[in-house]
Amino acid sequence: MNNVIRLERPTDAAEIAVLVIDNPPVNAIGNDVYEGLLTAMDQVKSDASVKAVLIAAAGRTFIAGADIKLPEQAGRGEGGRLYLHPLLEKIETFPKPVVVALHGTALGGGMELAMSAHYRVAAPDAQMGQPEVNLGIIPGAEGTQRLPRLVGVAAAVDLCVSGKPIKAPEALRLGLIDRIIEGDLRTGAIAFAREMTAHTSHPRTRDRRDKLGSPEGNAPIYAAGREQAAKIRRNMKAPLAAIEAIEAAATLPWEEGLAKEKEIADRCLASDESRALIHAFFSERGVSKIPDVPKDTKTLEIRKVAIVGAGTMGGGIAMALVNAGIPVILRDTEQAALDRGMAAIRNNYDASVKRGRFTPEVVEQRMAQIRPQLTYEGFQDADLILEAVFENMTLKKQIFAELDKVAKPECVLASNTSTLDVDEIASATSRPERVIGLHSFSPANIMRLVEIVRGSKTSREVVATAQALAKKIGKVGVVVGNCCGFVGNRMMIPYMREAQFLVEEGATPAVVDKTLYDFGMAMGIFAVDDMGGIDVIWRVRQERKHLEKPGVRKPLMTDKLYAMGRLGQKTGAGWYRYDENRKSSPDAEVEALIRQTAQEAGIPQRNITADEILERCLYVMINEGARILQEGYALRAADIDTIYLTGYGFPGYRGGPMWYADTVGLKKVLDRIVAFQRSHGELWEPAPLLRELAESGRTFASWDADQEKRFAIP
Ligand code: NAD
Repeated sequence: MNNVIRLERPTDAAEIAVLVIDNPPVNAIGNDVYEGLLTAMDQVKSDASVKAVLIAAAGRTFIAGADIKLPEQAGRGEGGRLYLHPLLEKIETFPKPVVVALHGTALGGGMELAMSAHYRVAAPDAQMGQPEVNLGIIPGAEGTQRLPRLVGVAAAVDLCVSGKPIKAPEALRLGLIDRIIEGDLRTGAIAFAREMTAHTSHPRTRDRRDKLGSPEGNAPIYAAGREQAAKIRRNMKAPLAAIEAIEAAATLPWEEGLAKEKEIADRCLASDESRALIHAFFSERGVSKIPDVPKDTKTLEIRKVAIVGAGTMGGGIAMALVNAGIPVILRDTEQAALDRGMAAIRNNYDASVKRGRFTPEVVEQRMAQIRPQLTYEGFQDADLILEAVFENMTLKKQIFAELDKVAKPECVLASNTSTLDVDEIASATSRPERVIGLHSFSPANIMRLVEIVRGSKTSREVVATAQALAKKIGKVGVVVGNCCGFVGNRMMIPYMREAQFLVEEGATPAVVDKTLYDFGMAMGIFAVDDMGGIDVIWRVRQERKHLEKPGVRKPLMTDKLYAMGRLGQKTGAGWYRYDENRKSSPDAEVEALIRQTAQEAGIPQRNITADEILERCLYVMINEGARILQEGYALRAADIDTIYLTGYGFPGYRGGPMWYADTVGLKKVLDRIVAFQRSHGELWEPAPLLRELAESGRTFASWDADQEKRFAIP
């Protein structure tokens, strides 16, 4: 038919036309698949010897979704709207039975195509779903109209709001598929198609209304769906839009429902929300492209890892590794610390068993893969050693000097440091080219981000190895340069500082946090401080004291809270007060202390608007991001966005701080920064890159595009 669609006529079942979709790697549906299927359907229609059509896919999966470049183009208003209607219409109204065979993952446009067929069969482990909400769009290729007809309104709402796939047995129970084929899928599907040729008529999903319920009966389902959306997709419009389209399916005749769906889908495609989420999608996939570390760079296979330090991070990383099948040696200096570390790991796993994520047997297998010990025994066989001891340069250097003696020559020596100089750590070894920072985030068994900190001597092979390891353990590895705080924390420092200035000027921690939370941040910044520990922030400040310039404003409260032992959640009080369940409430004592401190420092008090809170917290971060980019510590603005989206709770539907700045308009961001510089002084000095882009009417996205050209990254 064309290069991605083949028509096959099995010798032992020549009356069945098998249309094979072969568009590796995931058979994404783009123009070629669409055109090929359309032509193929026409061809088999005119062939009287064909009694039934089977649509199946080659490779590891059925259509795993639409080609996401298409909605990206559509969002920019550059065509790209893949309008599947003519194909779906052709399939559904086909005079002979059309069967679709599903394996792997049938998602998005793939599922929508499958639902237009008369019958669906699936492999027992196939998964199906409508994950469009993750990209801020709806199943707009008639999915919102056919899905509720097949599975009912409640299940359709759940599938579209959660975006989560379901497995074949559940799909069968719901009526999404007609049969599970044990054994060879193609053989079983052909037999099924033959069976169906005996029927005189074939069900068209559009004609079904038996599961659509009544407006009164559906009302609480929509309400529950909206409630679910508010919980799991806070502030997002796409899940609500999907519910609106499902409601149209349940109340309107087919054609009118389709028209309504198209209107809603177009609205979503043009939204800032979908543009941001699609940007986030491509940004995450783009981080692995490093100009001087091409895809074919040699890597060292990591079969065994040793970790030094069985604390919060060491334990979490050990879990992430064994979950991916990599055995771990976990070393600490004292038995008590080791016991605490192993108990914390056990607790985490027990919680996963309670949530149904793992079975107790799986947990036992995982635990058995972690070998706690007090010595360096076995370290000589490790392919990678990760240091996760206290954040102290002298200690880290001492450990790296020891590791240099025990590790095999090709072993990668990594540090989980969050702020320290990786080059200085590497200088304690005789092989700085094998040393790298692997900055994971807490809880490390859950958080997806790892900043891969490339020292000045780190070899390309070691960078590529770290990237491959991150991928293997399901993390997003973003390569960053070795500056203080790397990318994420370097931007956090001014963000935290500005938030503290705001409370000194008259806001309260609760008001600042609510404003940030309402913007979409996973947590307000003061809640983050309390979770991480005021002592940690205090310590970082001590390390940076030498950078503080006389006469430049400094936050006043951290030292006071630290001195009072208000270290955050762990002491039951920090910026907030915590009950025994670690539930926070504002604390009048802290608020009074803030007012008193401000008065003593002569800081005038005023009402601060939500706009100012957001601008000061976010623009200061963006300004630092621009500096990081210009200095080359991040390769792309999109990398910074990925860091904030995967490690710092920045809302996906805002695309990350740099993308958000583009959507606000860099000129506006710059103007506000200049205004803040006038009223607050040199900490608000605009970053030269931000000024340059804003004044030439450009964006961070355009800077990234130029950057890709400069590096000739394909
Ligand atoms: P932690 O205090 O929970 O654990 C440190 C562990 O190291 C302790 O168990 C301690 O006994 C052990 N240790 C100390 N000296 C040792 C030695 N010589 N040999 C073996 N073990 C030794 O600390 P953490 O929070 O896990 O932090 C570890 C590192 O990770 C630090 O560099 C920190 O900056 C970084 N980090 C922490 C977080 C976080 O949220 N906790 C996030 C990112 C990075």
